[in-house]
Amino acid sequence: ETPAGYTAFSVDTIADYIADKPELMNRLGGDASQLKATEVGDGNLNLVFIVEGPDDTVIIKQALPYVRLVGESWPLPLKRSFFEYNALVRQAKACSVTARVPEIFLYDDAHALVAMEYLSHHIILRKGLIAGTIYPKIARDLGLFMAETLFRTSDLHMDAGEKKKDVALFSDNVELCDITESLVFTDPYHDAELNSWTTPQLDKLALGLRSDRDLKIAASQMKQRFVTHTEALVHGDLHSGSVMVNADDTRVIDPEFAFYGPMGFDVGALIANYFLSYFSQAGHEPEPGARNEYRAWILETIIETWDVFEERFRELWVNERTGVLYPRSIFEDQGDAIGAEEALNSFLKQLQEDTIGFAGAKMIRRLVGLAHVEDMQSIEDPDRRASCEAKALAMGRELLVDRAKFTGMKQLCELAKRIE
Ligand code: ADP
Ligand code: MG
Ligand code: MG
Ligand code: MG
Repeated sequence: ETPAGYTAFSVDTIADYIADKPELMNRLGGDASQLKATEVGDGNLNLVFIVEGPDDTVIIKQALPYVRLVGESWPLPLKRSFFEYNALVRQAKACSVTARVPEIFLYDDAHALVAMEYLSHHIILRKGLIAGTIYPKIARDLGLFMAETLFRTSDLHMDAGEKKKDVALFSDNVELCDITESLVFTDPYHDAELNSWTTPQLDKLALGLRSDRDLKIAASQMKQRFVTHTEALVHGDLHSGSVMVNADDTRVIDPEFAFYGPMGFDVGALIANYFLSYFSQAGHEPEPGARNEYRAWILETIIETWDVFEERFRELWVNERTGVLYPRSIFEDQGDAIGAEEALNSFLKQLQEDTIGFAGAKMIRRLVGLAHVEDMQSIEDPDRRASCEAKALAMGRELLVDRAKFTGMKQLCELAKRIE
């Protein structure tokens, strides 16, 4: 049911809506007749308008009452806009200077929309990865973003009452969690209607997932962690299409899937998308080996992202551990700083295992499930594409099944090189 008062805007109607919003008009300048709107949504779910005035430009992101990728036959509640707005507010607060979210100007619950800063000098990270562009700051920025947002929204830091209230608030994001629960953890492993893959090249591999018992159990175990661990406010969709970049600046967008879940889900999503990019490079290089340096940069970026993440997480553990978990009263306050550090090591070990398992699940679902990635889709020759995808699929399987056996990101990168 679409609530009363909601209408989906178009490039022809959005200016009249904005005309009544002084907080936007003051920024844009002029009057409604001077506003120029275009629609740029390239995502799977929502409308995104760029609205340009004489002085400035803003983004209006509006939820539709259905899944844009599929159509009106798949309804999806407008309240995802509420969760996106609330997540953006929390991420902005949790994050320091470098990596951050766009500035938010307005949230309108009735119209399920958020007005935000237009990132005119940024491009979507996925597009940059396809083009073979190096981003020197990205590992540091996203490592910090994840450490700060995840630590500071967890029971390691938050007030227990506030945390529980916030878990309750976000636990209503049922339908978007359901999308992840189905699309990531279940659909690749059975005959789900909307699955697709490069056929016939990948038929045997894709159908083989359904009888791969170790893999099905591993995917189910990761699903259990996703569903039952309210560890931190996770972005929930932190792939390379949710990051906007340029040489100097990194922004994270599109947290409509946000909920209290396992920290490793965000770190794993990002790493999965780097590995998908890694295996897609053979489909984009003009001659074999032309992108070798770029391949090496992707792997270094994965390692550095984790290193920055871990280093910042360790600092926060020491300096901002004010929540109910691992209380200082039983460690540092009794002179047992070593105990606190050992607890941290064990926490990080579990987090790394989760990260690797979620990364594997995220890779597989992008190869044989409903929503594929442009990194692979844009490889026109199906044989060439299938060859890239088969390697990524093999990697995803090993990550899921052997997630507890890896010592760290270096070892993951060694595996990627062997498979490639
Ligand atoms: P969806 O939830 O539908 O995936 P996104 O939030 O990912 O929507 O936005 C879709 C596209 O709109 C992005 O890929 C990007 O190209 C553009 N976009 C979104 N937000 C901004 C922004 N703040 N500045 C510039 N472009 C943006
Ligand atoms: Mg998106
Ligand atoms: Mg998108
Ligand atoms: Mg989205």
